[in-house]
Amino acid sequence: MKNVIFIAPPVAGKGTQSSKLVDLGYEHISTGNMLREEINKESDIGIQIKDIMTSGSLVSDEIVFELITNKFKTIDKPFILDGFPRTLNQAYMLDKLLNDLKINNYEVIYLDIELEEALKRALGRLTCECGLSYNIFFEKLKPKKENICDKCGKALVQRTDDNEETFRNRFDTFLKNNEPIMEFYKSKNKLHIIDTKIGNENITDKIKDILK
Ligand code: AMP
Repeated sequence: MKNVIFIAPPVAGKGTQSSKLVDLGYEHISTGNMLREEINKESDIGIQIKDIMTSGSLVSDEIVFELITNKFKTIDKPFILDGFPRTLNQAYMLDKLLNDLKINNYEVIYLDIELEEALKRALGRLTCECGLSYNIFFEKLKPKKENICDKCGKALVQRTDDNEETFRNRFDTFLKNNEPIMEFYKSKNKLHIIDTKIGNENITDKIKDILK
């Protein structure tokens, strides 16, 4: 199975698509999750990055790259990289890391989504610590019981960076940084663009085709 690098904007559906690939045997590496874990643990890194993440800005390339490099030492499955690279410099860092590890069997997938749709998804999103996420603005995605996870029964929470001001900042930051990253992977013949308007199931089918 080929490895995957997702470079989609926030709430484009990377998490949803990643969990489907996890069911097929993939390891999901989400830099956002790894950074949130550091904050929850109140580690040195966590203390350093808390305010940056709350504001929706980017954590330094060095901190994120260190977490990624350590993670790569532990995985023995095909991987999904979700949330990295987010700057051209990170793309170069990753390229060097993958070259050093002799990994070239990967594809880069961009999930295309418009700001208005993304905003609706972000402001309605509730997540559970088990990894599932819900959305109160979409009938099909609401939890069965208000604020309770259907799967594990725990209370759902709204991410602190899923408010309108922070979200707009995250989205703008993403678009600004993403253009050169897309050019970089296009020039390597690795880039695939999927329009999220086609719906989750069709997106999954397209991704499976790309990874065959
Ligand atoms: P995400 O869960 O992917 O939406 O990421 C949430 C937040 O984590 C972002 O808004 C950034 O503050 C931080 N973050 C995640 N990945 C990276 C990255 N590759 N580089 C810098 N900051 C990141």
